[in-house]
Amino acid sequence: MSGKVAAFVVAAGALASGVGASSGTGDAQFLPVGASSDLAVAMAHSAAPRTADIKTVHADVQPAYEAAKLVRSEGFFVRQHIDMAIKHAADSYTARQAELKRLKDAEDAEKARIAAEEAEKARVAAEQAQAQQAPPAVKQAPAPAPAPAAAPRVSAAKPAEGSFTSGFGARWGTTHYGVDIANSIGTPILSAMDGVIVEAGPASGFGLWVRVRHNDGTITVYGHVNEILVSQGQQVHAGQQIATMGNRGQSTGPHLHFEVWIGGSQKIDPVGWLGARGISL
Ligand SMILES: [Zn+2]
Repeated sequence: MSGKVAAFVVAAGALASGVGASSGTGDAQFLPVGASSDLAVAMAHSAAPRTADIKTVHADVQPAYEAAKLVRSEGFFVRQHIDMAIKHAADSYTARQAELKRLKDAEDAEKARIAAEEAEKARVAAEQAQAQQAPPAVKQAPAPAPAPAAAPRVSAAKPAEGSFTSGFGARWGTTHYGVDIANSIGTPILSAMDGVIVEAGPASGFGLWVRVRHNDGTITVYGHVNEILVSQGQQVHAGQQIATMGNRGQSTGPHLHFEVWIGGSQKIDPVGWLGARGISL
């Protein structure tokens, strides 16, 4: 309770009340008035002149009644403040619980997604193992190289082979929002995951780029490409070639500039993202 009764003296005569307009804190102040009910006498007893503060003077009031009113209103304001404090606490608790639940749900969803990916990887690995063990009778083909068209489906692929030449983060006084993989012009560029081509064409700084939106809303970006082998709206799968490496745009040598946009916009370090999918650069 911020409002305090600074002085509350009921004299034998009358009670005068005023509002402390100059107090700056909004606190109400009550001035005692002498038995003579002469305002001038009261002011003389007061340490500082209060003439400007006096808004109303009740010459004929019942002191006990006024005192009861004050106590009642004090009590009322105290209760009101307590109610408000309780309500604020309850509101922020509810909001915090909702936020915690939202974070927990997102975490669970991500865990479930990763678990599903792991299960898919295990299934693919089991299929591959089975395929290798399948022809025990036919021994003339010791290491059957699978044709590219029959390559087993993978959940994630390294976007290009080559040297890791630049990482994510501050570089040359600006921020490098992706990673660079250098190799010769024409090196295949592969879609990192299943998805749909959302853009394939010219892009400022990148010369030509391809952007793929994956099933979880993440977008991967492939910049400085030399040739584009897909078109907008096309479905692609992980490991499918979508372009060739080039040196277009603001590029100092043939390389792939690869970015990962979480939720389609938040640019994160692709190294961690690929690492979580079993791909190292
Ligand atoms: Zn780059």
